[in-house]
Amino acid sequence: MHTNGLLVVKVGGGEGNRIEPVLDDLAELWHAGQRWVLVHGGSARTNDVATALGHPPQFITSPSGFTSRRTDRQTALIFTMVYAGEMNKTIVEGLQARGIDAVGLSGADGRLLEGERKKAIRAVVNGRRMIVRDDYTGTIRRVNGTLLRLLLDAGYAPVVCPPAISHEHELINVDGDRAAAALAAALHAHTLVLLTGAPGLLRTPDDPTSRIATLPAVALEEAMTTYAQGRMRIKLLAAREALDGGVAQVVIATSNTEHPVQQALAGNGTIISV
Ligand code: ADP
Repeated sequence: MHTNGLLVVKVGGGEGNRIEPVLDDLAELWHAGQRWVLVHGGSARTNDVATALGHPPQFITSPSGFTSRRTDRQTALIFTMVYAGEMNKTIVEGLQARGIDAVGLSGADGRLLEGERKKAIRAVVNGRRMIVRDDYTGTIRRVNGTLLRLLLDAGYAPVVCPPAISHEHELINVDGDRAAAALAAALHAHTLVLLTGAPGLLRTPDDPTSRIATLPAVALEEAMTTYAQGRMRIKLLAAREALDGGVAQVVIATSNTEHPVQQALAGNGTIISV
């Protein structure tokens, strides 16, 4: 089994994320014997493709302030096209070019990520509270760790992305950071690395010198309400879920550097542990 000391790395799909240095670094680690699972996003490209297809992106905000992509069936299909198609296969292409036998999977393949579809979403739209019913988003409830272990043990490098599949077998949009956390917990990974545009968790979101180097798990809730805003709050929620699931440490670090994964492991980011 290669799951001792396994690493799960999530790279975001926002504008600020460069994938090439991540792939270089992951290839180096793999060739040195470090086994990992890569999870990726694709939000910026999905916005562009959705707009080009005449179905521009829409976002909804929950009453507690979390923003998510409004995902009707058409959006779920465009989302799948970009994440499991272009994004996933260009990452597989890049890893293959670096001598890694990568296998790309969405959460629907082999029911890798099974989730509960939200039948009704409470949302605030233009200041008004309303219920959205035809949405295809959800929360992961089960991970097929066996499938990933099979691949890892046979020497393949798994590259995973949303969508997940619902209990009723529909493609659903799930958060990538939380998907990575669920995978890390299911695989008993040692470390979850969340790469992002920011240098880590910042005390002041627009001051890159205010990075918090280490955060004990007990301080997560407070950090979520005091420092983190927007997408960073979801990363902290994912960190909470990973640690609760038995992952030893979570590192939030920048993808905008050479060797972003090794830099993260060396402590150049925010290390969160119990
Ligand atoms: P992804 O990498 O998953 O696409 P983002 O890079 O958008 O996600 O998520 C991190 C973003 O969260 C940062 O770019 C930053 O703008 C925002 N943010 C909000 N609060 C903080 C904080 N306290 N520290 C760091 N980033 C923060």
